[in-house]
This record gives sequence, C-alpha cells and structure tokens, in this order.
Amino acid sequence: MLIPHDTRSALDTVVDLMNTAPESGQDDKLTDVEALYDFVRMHMVSGVGELTQRDLKAVHGIRTLFAEVFAASDSRTAAETINRLVAAAGTTPQLTDHDGHDWHVHYFAPGASVADHLAADCGMALAFIVVAGEQERLRRCEAPDCGRAFVDLSRNRSRRYCDSRTCGNRLHVAAYRARRREAAG
Ligand SMILES: [Zn+2]
Ligand SMILES: [Zn+2]
Repeated sequence: MLIPHDTRSALDTVVDLMNTAPESGQDDKLTDVEALYDFVRMHMVSGVGELTQRDLKAVHGIRTLFAEVFAASDSRTAAETINRLVAAAGTTPQLTDHDGHDWHVHYFAPGASVADHLAADCGMALAFIVVAGEQERLRRCEAPDCGRAFVDLSRNRSRRYCDSRTCGNRLHVAAYRARRREAAG
C-alpha cells in the first residue's frame, strides 16, 4: 500500500496521541497543558498559539474519537466517526510546500485550534486509509497488559504487536499465557 509521507506522519501522530491514553496500558500521559505543549512540539503541529486547559480537554475529546475509529468493527462505523471528526474541525484544504517539503495538502483551517488541527489533518489521514480499503490495519497490540495503538504497515497485514520490545517478543507472550494458565488451573 502506498501511503504518502504526509499521511504517514499524520498517522504517527494519531497513534502517539492514542498511546498517551490509559487504554494503552499505562497512566494518562496527557494530563496537563505542559504535556500538550510537549506533544505539539514533538509532532510539529504548526500554527498553534498559546495552549490552555480548554485545548487540553478538546484534544482529549479528539483522542477518544481516534480510539473509536480504531475500535470500529467495520468501515461504515469508522467512516461515520471520521466524518464527525472532520466536519467538526471545519477543514480548509490548502496546497502548500512550506519548509522545503514537497507539495502536500493541509486540511486544517488557518488559525485552527490544536484540537481542530489534529481532527482535520489526522481525520483525513484516517479517511485515506478507509478509502484504500485498509481499515483493518488500524490495530491495537494484542500482548497482555498492553493495548497500544499502531498502524500495521506490513505487507500481509500480519502484525499483532506494538513496537515495544517486550510486546514484539512472542516468546514473552507465550510464557505469560502459560504462567496464567498455570495460575488459573
Ligand atoms: Zn505541512
Ligand atoms: Zn504492545
């Protein structure tokens, strides 16, 4: 599957945002405005001014909607959530070649809040995946006690675990299951 660079980096942002949430098997990592600033800096979300508690709350809302897209059992359900995300963000597609990048489309409206920026650009990246018929690539790690989100870009859609070292190790998982069986029996 050919994924444009931009879509790919937007998908990385989706996954990283989802993985700040408790569902991914740890404490919430996005609990204050400072953490939101760090996230925005790390993902180079451009054009975002001063951030407030309100932004934080709005981004939590977007994070929940991303999780709903990943949890969607079929493409229709995913599409409905994506449409809601993108519509609420008020998109304004703009071709741009800023900062030496090749031509690509920004979907967020000029002056958009950080939540609207993420909803528009990341929402469109998720839309692209659904259009490509690849919704099942939006996954969560199957390792016990994990649940981190990831996008399976493997050729045969066979990836089951996130990037973390322990999860990627099937032996570790097998050993855990065996121990649990023993404990249960
Ligand atoms: Zn750009
Ligand atoms: Zn994992």
